[in-house]
Amino acid sequence: MVDARIGVLALQGDFAEHLSVLTSCGYRSTEVRSAEDLEVVDALIIPGGESTTQLKLIDRYDLRDPLRKRTSGGMPVFGTCAGAIVLAQESSDGEPPLGVAPFRIIRNAYGRQVDSFEADIDVPRLGGTVRGVFIRAPIIEDSGSGEVLAGWAGRPVLVQLDNVLVSTFHPELVQEPRIHRYFVEELCGSM
Ligand code: GLN
Repeated sequence: MVDARIGVLALQGDFAEHLSVLTSCGYRSTEVRSAEDLEVVDALIIPGGESTTQLKLIDRYDLRDPLRKRTSGGMPVFGTCAGAIVLAQESSDGEPPLGVAPFRIIRNAYGRQVDSFEADIDVPRLGGTVRGVFIRAPIIEDSGSGEVLAGWAGRPVLVQLDNVLVSTFHPELVQEPRIHRYFVEELCGSM
């Protein structure tokens, strides 16, 4: 069991659902809203929500540089949906993302809210499928040198590159614990 303290960026979006998955897995977790909060965590989750709003709040609370420094220093980070956009190198529109992972991402790529959908996603590393909830989800158009851990309809939907994990769906919304466990055990366990 990994004893890392997992932070969840709690500026906007479904951070409460992430905290709830982490708690149900028995991990230590805490909300992150400031550079001081960020200093005391070993890893960070950036939740789903609205990436433009999250990036504006990141700048308002002077978190851009601290986030970039911690992640480039090797802190494990997991972004779901909007969180994946926040971490990308480049996004199709909206606020400039953090540029933590060399991914190019297209926002709202499956269409409007009514085009949101669910699908069973095969994740060979987890030995089975997980329920993928896609809500105004982005498409990772270019995942650079990242390892594609799962795809759907020919597109990467779960990608890892070193200390960075991103999904374009929301394991937290179905309280699916296996991806959070993978993040903590594999990425934080090797810290
Ligand atoms: N469409 C949102 C964005 O661009 C992401 C949606 C989500 O996190 N479910 O930020």
